[in-house]
Amino acid sequence: MRTAVINKGKIIIKEVPDMELSEREGAVVRVLGCGLCGSDIVKFIHKISKDGTVLGHEIVAEIVEINSKTNFKQGDIIVTSHHIPCGECVYCKNGNVSMCEHFKSTNLKPGGFSEYVYLTEEHLQNVAHLKPENLTDIEASYYEPLGCCVRGIKRANLRGNSTALVIGLGTIGIIMAQALKAFGMDVIGCDLIPERVKILHNLGIAACSVKELDPNFKADGVFMTSGADKAINTALKYVRNGGKILVFSSTPNNWGYANNEIYYRELTVLGSYSPAPVDLADSLNLLRSKQVKVDGLSTVYKLEDIQKAFDDTINNRIMKAYIKIKE
Ligand SMILES: [Zn+2]
Ligand SMILES: [Zn+2]
Repeated sequence: MRTAVINKGKIIIKEVPDMELSEREGAVVRVLGCGLCGSDIVKFIHKISKDGTVLGHEIVAEIVEINSKTNFKQGDIIVTSHHIPCGECVYCKNGNVSMCEHFKSTNLKPGGFSEYVYLTEEHLQNVAHLKPENLTDIEASYYEPLGCCVRGIKRANLRGNSTALVIGLGTIGIIMAQALKAFGMDVIGCDLIPERVKILHNLGIAACSVKELDPNFKADGVFMTSGADKAINTALKYVRNGGKILVFSSTPNNWGYANNEIYYRELTVLGSYSPAPVDLADSLNLLRSKQVKVDGLSTVYKLEDIQKAFDDTINNRIMKAYIKIKE
């Protein structure tokens, strides 16, 4: 089978032995397609992942071989995420599932940018779902990224009708804004790029350029989906006293947040990384009910063009790439 692996600063296609279930529990799935996540880009650019790594975790796949106690069967089209919390450790018990050691150690083998993937029984029992029939494969591939947004919204724990400002209208900002609206928030999104502002506006959610934000506007919660260091100042400017800033992206210079502003203004700054199984289930419901719409956000690439998908994403030529693996 073909996989896409990191090799000396490039992503190359490599032929590897076929994936077989043998005596194991779990399933071998044929990957129909896989979304390219911002975290894949960070791991690639900053050389966090070693040569030989297969990235990709936002998969839509067909079960080809299965040995499981679940009701899934051969031929089912599913979505799944990659990490599973243990539910027992100090992190899991305190709601920080993405800090759980088991969570970090579980993954798709070899990775989503591959013709076939092995899923453990744990994946099938906790984070895999049948793909809803009213969703295209590309729409369903937003299951995991939207799950991350749902978790961020829950962690911010704003009251209903609160004002939420989303800074950064890349794909994550666009789906975060829609999910916030579905959770009953009064949402406004901003970005520097007019085309991105327009996308949110066309979805019926208030959006403007960062410069056009009313200087007197104050948000109860600011959702930082921008990866720009300068956006931190924007967040501090528009969060109300006593408000919350939800950090949802890494930033190149890692400037951090101002101690004195947090102290004198009673701000809460909190991070949110990866979703729990319950957040993923909520994500699928938001997609199924079309409360979060993702059509038109992804650009499709073939597996052999995956390097171009990475390059186009890095250079902001597209919003998000979807690698269509089964022709
Ligand atoms: Zn992701
Ligand atoms: Zn745990």
